[in-house]
Amino acid sequence: MIAEVILNSTASDLNKTFDYDVPDNMNVVVGARVLIPFGKRKIYEVGYVVKLKEESNYECKSIIKVIDYVFDEKKIKLANWISKTYFCTMADAFRLFVPPGTSRSYDRVKTKTEKYVFLQKKDIDDKVKSEKQKKVLEFLKDNGAVPKSALREFVDVSDAVLKTLEKNGYIEIKDIEVNRNPFWNKEIKKANAVILTDEQRQAVESINISKYGEYLIHGVTGSGKTEVYLQLIDEVIKSGKNAIILVPEISLTPQITDRFLSRFGETIAILHSRLSLGERFDEWKKIDSNKSRIVIGARSAIFAPVKNIGIIIIDEEHDSSYKSDSTPKYDARDVAKYIAAENNIPIVLGSATPDVRTYYRAMNNEVKLLKLEKRISKSGLPNIEIVDMRDELATGNRTPFSRKLYFSMKEAITNKEQIMLFLNRRGYSTFIMCRDCGYVLKCEDCDVSMTYHMDQNRLICHYCGKTKSVSPVCPSCNSKNIKYFGTGTQKIEALIKKYFPEASVIRMDVDTTREKNGHEKILNKFRNEKIDILLGTQMIAKGHDFSNVTLVGILAADISMNIGDYRANERTYQLLLQMSGRAGRGDKKGTAIIQTYMPDEFSIQSVKEQNYTKFYNTEIKIREKLNYPPFCDIIIAVASGEDEDKVKGEITRLYDSLKISFNVYPPAPAPISKINNEYRWRILIKDVFDKQKTEKFYNILFDGYKVQSTDVRLSIDKNPNNML
Ligand code: ADP
Ligand code: ZN
Ligand code: ZN
Repeated sequence: MIAEVILNSTASDLNKTFDYDVPDNMNVVVGARVLIPFGKRKIYEVGYVVKLKEESNYECKSIIKVIDYVFDEKKIKLANWISKTYFCTMADAFRLFVPPGTSRSYDRVKTKTEKYVFLQKKDIDDKVKSEKQKKVLEFLKDNGAVPKSALREFVDVSDAVLKTLEKNGYIEIKDIEVNRNPFWNKEIKKANAVILTDEQRQAVESINISKYGEYLIHGVTGSGKTEVYLQLIDEVIKSGKNAIILVPEISLTPQITDRFLSRFGETIAILHSRLSLGERFDEWKKIDSNKSRIVIGARSAIFAPVKNIGIIIIDEEHDSSYKSDSTPKYDARDVAKYIAAENNIPIVLGSATPDVRTYYRAMNNEVKLLKLEKRISKSGLPNIEIVDMRDELATGNRTPFSRKLYFSMKEAITNKEQIMLFLNRRGYSTFIMCRDCGYVLKCEDCDVSMTYHMDQNRLICHYCGKTKSVSPVCPSCNSKNIKYFGTGTQKIEALIKKYFPEASVIRMDVDTTREKNGHEKILNKFRNEKIDILLGTQMIAKGHDFSNVTLVGILAADISMNIGDYRANERTYQLLLQMSGRAGRGDKKGTAIIQTYMPDEFSIQSVKEQNYTKFYNTEIKIREKLNYPPFCDIIIAVASGEDEDKVKGEITRLYDSLKISFNVYPPAPAPISKINNEYRWRILIKDVFDKQKTEKFYNILFDGYKVQSTDVRLSIDKNPNNML
């Protein structure tokens, strides 16, 4: 028998099958991962078997061994769809499905074992001499088999004592396969289902779990969407099927995992990038063996090996983390939709601020729209107030706190209510400019200005991470008149200490959350120690439910208006509304204060009125007029490399091979024209990528066009998050 094998390689010219001979006694099936000799390489390569056949036209080498059986026909079909839709190789797509940590070298992650001590003889007779030995045996009688490490901790015995007991046949010490359990330190309280409100019940009843359908739950913040998910999953589990729920970067919202754990207990598996590789590997195995029936995870959990899938739920469906920025650059929402259709099951999207593209499909009846318009809490939706910062300047207030925000904070602190302050810029000062010659200090390797970090007293490039000491003179004209502009979270923290010395404050941004469970620690501290002020970047805007927060302050709403992206209005609306929605989730009424220099922008006005429909109706007209998604797709192709001429040459050749068939703009330097010492040139394609166009594009990329210089990389991203 002959197997068609795809090599596990990222090289686009190896994106095809190779024939291999299957040795007689080897169990090779479609979907097996195998070791194969390839070319002149000295080590064996990993490959994926995609087809079996009787004969080959080539002289074939033999498969060396089968590694595992990860794939089946269905997954191969999905991998093929991903490769064709997001323009990556089959090998790139396959890597999404393999157990965590095994994609490049398949035996890097091992099952974890631990030494366990078992009792062999029930009767403790005279031969047991020492007290220590007796204590060990008593302990084992009471507790059953225990890890050796635990025994040493509880009974305080030496290895010698255990050896003697083993030699005399009282105990046996064996290696046992153990699970790395990410919940081991969590206390799980059991919770029962709540009685649903009418709105919630209607939503649950409208979703038919026995067949394919796409649903959008558009529910205001705090309207009880999560409760609807829990109920749906409960039904699916009772029908004998399993569930996947995707949440944005799960580690940021430990709250939601806790709610699932307390409802469903140990049948939950959790998958996200902040778990250790070993933990992820074990969770993956728990799912593969059907021990876990509910998977909660970030984007890539959509590829978890769930058997008998019954529903897919995507919470906060507008969140940008569902789109991958690295190859394969897939969108988990599209993949989920494909899987749901393939398995004839429902897909449920939920958000208070839906993606404009999703809402557009709901308006065209491609997605069934379900609404939750009331908040569960008695206090209702928060009041949202807009402060025009131009007026503050006019009155001479040069602090980042408007008078309105300042006095509201003072009041909340006095009343022992908590405050969340949002600023989407980390560091201390965001750029440094010479007042005499206008020189802005940029990273030497990237085309971006450097940010001053007070704690390290250094300048840091947020793109490549390089740091630099602070120079007292301008590198360009030697003037001493250099000034720090732009306010980041570090500076706000310092100013809070100055203006609100009576308050406690905790800061949450990339710089304070690097350690494992860093997010959880800060959020727990804020909650449990009743810290007055939680200050942070957008990681504090998502999903959090703190009942004692009555005041939310948004220091600079305009930052997201100036991101150089057609989604600037949408991102602004989503961010401001989600952030405001953190206020008043308990019994006390909440207030959100939004500071801006552009109070009349419709996105900001719609937030004030908490009126998504108004926002959508204006935005969709703009998109239509300017021909932006959902009225077309955008593909950005970026070539990068150290030699700018070569980079320019490659992107120009790609442009030439595309321009006849597609609506493509000529090559230009990317908005950030250099990162990490590599020049970046790009072309932008604006077209409707239906099946035909997609196929054509794929064929040009993988058959027609070839990158010629080895030191130029090409990245293709369809509907990317980042336009820069
Ligand atoms: P959302 O996901 O829409 O932001 P949640 O599901 O977090 O809303 O609900 C907000 C709060 O209301 C939570 O504390 C939740 O436990 C509570 N809640 C939700 N539904 C009900 C209900 N039917 N009865 C009582 N409390 C509820
Ligand atoms: Zn200067
Ligand atoms: Zn840099």
